[in-house]
Amino acid sequence: MYRTALLRPGVAPTLDGSLPAQAEPPSGKDSAPDRVMQTAELHPLPAEDHGPEPSPGSRPLTGRLSRAHRAAGASFLLAFALGFVHLRLAAIPLAIFVVLCLAAPSFPGWSFFLPILSAGPRSRGAVTLTFDDGPDPLTTLPLLDLLARYGVKAAFFVVGERAEAHPCLIREILARGHEIGNHSHSHDLFLMLRRSATLHREVSACQETLSRQGVRSLVFRPPLGMTNSRLPGVLHRFGLVAVGFACRPLDFGNRRVKGLGHRVLRTVERGDVVLLHDCPPRGGVAPWLREIDTILGGLRERGVGIVPLSALLGRRVMEKGEPERQAE
Ligand SMILES: [Zn+2]
Repeated sequence: MYRTALLRPGVAPTLDGSLPAQAEPPSGKDSAPDRVMQTAELHPLPAEDHGPEPSPGSRPLTGRLSRAHRAAGASFLLAFALGFVHLRLAAIPLAIFVVLCLAAPSFPGWSFFLPILSAGPRSRGAVTLTFDDGPDPLTTLPLLDLLARYGVKAAFFVVGERAEAHPCLIREILARGHEIGNHSHSHDLFLMLRRSATLHREVSACQETLSRQGVRSLVFRPPLGMTNSRLPGVLHRFGLVAVGFACRPLDFGNRRVKGLGHRVLRTVERGDVVLLHDCPPRGGVAPWLREIDTILGGLRERGVGIVPLSALLGRRVMEKGEPERQAE
């Protein structure tokens, strides 16, 4: 049932096969909604294991027009109106819309093509750490040990190919209570320039790999955080929502490790989803671990909690089942 549910397009059932319940409608208006780019209600946690309450002011991620749709509508209306003044003027709003479409893939924070969850409420007083591009035999286990010393649960946005190659690391991540998200199957840096079928295959293959290892991810982070107009449809088919980041220390996939800890501590704000990487660092594993240690220690000193992604966003980010087979 688990895998059948995973592969059924457009449906995001829970592990027992039932459809997810609808969450409470939005209410209240605290919790710094400016930083909650979007929170969602597609897979609310049951009351008993929900952890934090869903963010007040949260709205469904589907069933409403994207910013791209609204920008298109506004551009065409404006062009139509300006056309009565002078035909050349009508080209201005259309040109602006085209520029927006070209620039938007590089600015996921705009949530232009689809809602992207990049932060939780500041009022929660906590952040979450996310590690992309793993798992990796060099880095994942020492990282897990370090996180355990601080009692911190993180989220790992894994690459399908690497998850397939190292299922024992996926099991270890799960066994230690961390969360796992889909980061595409092959981490194609130009994925957002590919056809819809390729995009679909990349998301699907990673979901399948994780499914075999007993995980159904409910969140997707695109390589480089880039999006396009085809992504919303693909994610909807798999019941996934896009997760971005609010704090990006520009480590360039662990190629720029020196000073990483201070860059995070200088810029991080309460409520942030912090982007880090779980892949072989330039300069060796030990210096990189010291930087992560600086982040963990620095946040603790400031009294900033580090909570799981699901707790920060107030929504479930994965479902666990039984691994289909044991490997490695
Ligand atoms: Zn990545």
